[in-house]
Amino acid sequence: MTIPFSEEQQAFKSAAERFAREKLASRYQAREQEAAIDRKLVREMGALGLIGADLPERHGGLGLPSQTTGLIIEALAYGDFNVAYVQLLGSLCGQIIARHAADELAAEWLPRIVAGEALVSLALTEPRGGSDAANLSLSARPTDTGYVLNGEKSSISIADQADATLVFARTGALEDRAHGVSAFLVPMDAPGVKTSRFSDLGSKVVGRGSIFFDDVQVPRANRLGAEGKGFTQVMQGFDFSRALIGLQCIAAAQASLDETWAYVGERKAFGAPLSRNQGVTFPLAEHETMAEAVRQLCYHTLRLRDAGQPHTAEAAMCKWLAPKTAVDIIHQCLLTHGHYGWSLDLPHQQRLRDVMGLEIGDGTAQIMKLIIAREMLGRRAR
Ligand SMILES: Cc1cc2nc3c(=O)[nH]c(=O)nc-3n(C[C@H](O)[C@H](O)[C@H](O)COP(=O)(O)OP(=O)(O)OC[C@H]3O[C@@H](n4cnc5c(N)ncnc54)[C@H](O)[C@@H]3O)c2cc1C
Repeated sequence: MTIPFSEEQQAFKSAAERFAREKLASRYQAREQEAAIDRKLVREMGALGLIGADLPERHGGLGLPSQTTGLIIEALAYGDFNVAYVQLLGSLCGQIIARHAADELAAEWLPRIVAGEALVSLALTEPRGGSDAANLSLSARPTDTGYVLNGEKSSISIADQADATLVFARTGALEDRAHGVSAFLVPMDAPGVKTSRFSDLGSKVVGRGSIFFDDVQVPRANRLGAEGKGFTQVMQGFDFSRALIGLQCIAAAQASLDETWAYVGERKAFGAPLSRNQGVTFPLAEHETMAEAVRQLCYHTLRLRDAGQPHTAEAAMCKWLAPKTAVDIIHQCLLTHGHYGWSLDLPHQQRLRDVMGLEIGDGTAQIMKLIIAREMLGRRAR
C-alpha cells in the first residue's frame, strides 16, 4: 500500500490486521456454517476501538477521519469479509444517527454501537423494489405522541440479529417521492416488529431478511431529523458506505491473490513451478494492478469526504467497480488453484459468493452509473 497514512492511522491498521490474523482468518469458513455474528467477537472489536472509529468522541467514538475506518475495514475484511459488515453498518448507521438524531437518542445508541454492544440495521428496501428507493410505501402515520409504522422492509442485512433498525418510512404522499420520506430508529424488541430470514448464496453470518412492522408505536423522539428529510439523510450516508464497501471487497480479493501467489510458487506442473509460466502470472499481475487502482480510488473518495469535498460520483464509482473487480480477481484465483479451487475446503468459492452479494447490496452497478452520469451532467452544468 503506497498511500502515506499518519502514525495514528498506521497504528489502527496494525491493530486491525493483528485482530484479523489472530481472531478472524482461520474461522472465516467455520463462521459461515454458524450463520450468526459472534457477539463476543464484536465486543472485543469494540474494546479495541475498531467499530465506528469515525463517530464523535462525545458519543463514545474516536472522532477519527473516515480514511481510518477504511483502513480498519480493509484489514478486517482481509481476514473475514462478513465480520467487516459490523464496521460497515456501525459507521453507516452510526453517522446517520450522530448527524440527525436528537442528542438523547444518539447518547442511548452510539456508545453501544461503538462498544460492540448493539448492532443497528439499515432498512430501506421494500418487497416491490430497491433501485427506485424513493418509491417506498411503508407508512408512518402521525399520532399525538409520535408515529405508527405499518409495512414490510425486505432484503435487510442482519434483519434478525440487529438490536435496532434505522427505518425509512413514508410520512408524506406517495407522489412526494423522496420528500415524503422520514427516518426512524426503532428498537427490534418494540411490540409489532417481526423478522424472517432468507436462504442466501453467501454471507450467511450476516444474513438477510424481512422486517415486518405491524402497528409499531414509535415516539416522536425516535424520528431522525425533520419530517420528510429521511431520504436525503440516507443518501448522504451511502456516499460513505460505498467507499467502505469498495475496500471490504478489495480486501477479500487481495486475500485470494496473496494465497494464489504462494500457491503458484509451490505447485509444480511440467517439471517446474506454475509461476514459471507467464500465462499463470500475467493474469495475477493484471489483477494486482486493478486491486491497487480500485484501492486508491476508495481512499481518494474517503480523503475527499474528510476534506469536506463533494464525493457522490466517486463513491458510486467505488461501489460498482470494486465488487466487480473483486469477483473477477477471486474467480481467477479459484481457477488458478485447479481442482482444489473447486473444493469447498478452500475459501475462494466462499469469498466469491460473499463479494457477489455486494454487487447488489447498497445499489447495483446500473444504479451507480445513473448516479455518476447525473453527477457529471450536473457538474458540467454548473
Ligand atoms: C447482500 C445484500 C445485502 C443487502 N442489504 C440491504 C440492507 O441492509 N438494507 C437495505 O435496505 N437493502 C439491502 N439490500 C437490498 C439492495 O439494496 C437491493 O437489492 C438493491 O438496491 C436492488 O434492488 P432490487 O433487488 O429491488 O432490484 P430492482 O430494483 O428490482 O432491480 C432489478 C435489476 O434491474 C436493474 N435496474 C433497475 N432499475 C434500473 C434502471 N433505471 N436502469 C438500469 N437498470 C435498472 C437493477 O440494476 C437490477 O439489476 C441488500 C441486498 C443484498 C443482495
